[in-house]
Amino acid sequence: MLLLENVTKRYGAFTAVDDVSLHIPAGQVFGFLGPNGAGKTTTMKMITGLVKPSAGAVRVDGVDVIADPLEAKRRIGYVPDRPNLYERLTPVEYCYFIAGLYGMARDETVARTRELLVLFGLGEKLGALIESFSHGMKQRLVMASVLLHRPRLLVVDEPMVGLDPRGARLLKDVLRREATERGLTVMLSTHTLEVADEVCDRVAVIHRGRLVAQGSPAELRAASGAEGAKLEEVFLQLTAEDPGQPEAGPAG
Ligand code: ATP
Repeated sequence: MLLLENVTKRYGAFTAVDDVSLHIPAGQVFGFLGPNGAGKTTTMKMITGLVKPSAGAVRVDGVDVIADPLEAKRRIGYVPDRPNLYERLTPVEYCYFIAGLYGMARDETVARTRELLVLFGLGEKLGALIESFSHGMKQRLVMASVLLHRPRLLVVDEPMVGLDPRGARLLKDVLRREATERGLTVMLSTHTLEVADEVCDRVAVIHRGRLVAQGSPAELRAASGAEGAKLEEVFLQLTAEDPGQPEAGPAG
């Protein structure tokens, strides 16, 4: 469903993402792990068409993201790590605006907006201005808004930041349910390794722009020779810094 073929991103002499190939089948929740500055956000921006690869190709449902950006974007929902919201709108107005960008019909827009805002616990805030929302409430609004147009692929950068335990639980449940029942493909980056362990079918670890491992959390544990270990230990082992190596580049 999501295919990355030898994707590279260079900024001048610095290579942020180095020859990454990935295939994520439909209906899978895929976790993208790596230390700060490893290349997660850059990879996600190339998948969503916000950053152009220096080399390689990205296909979503067979559609080339660079050659056919509008067709690709119809299929994608993207939650950036620092989403920008129009704070002087209400959540309903914001969702109507987003639905308009995707050309959704009016009846469907009204029904979907209500359904998703209630699902994400914002049913009592429909008429409030977004500027009055807490960080976690804004996160939930963004999640609701990216699901409006029923994307086939959801790309989520650090979804758990700022969510309280109930919000985090809700989001994990929604992602798993959408993947299992509707075949939504999810790619999420996270530093919360318990989240990866709990919701992801497969994970990949990126380090200094290169993929250093991929498989189910259990497979990664087995490959590291630490089957009983936490994913955290596997992660630390895979991304251990060689003291002889210079830093990968400016912090991300
Ligand atoms: P974090 O976990 O800290 O969010 P990340 O894995 O998402 O990190 P990226 O944001 O993809 O990392 O950054 C990867 C590397 O590319 C970093 O060294 C970063 O400084 C560099 N980088 C990102 N964008 C640019 C840019 N526009 N120009 C130059 N370097 C960049």
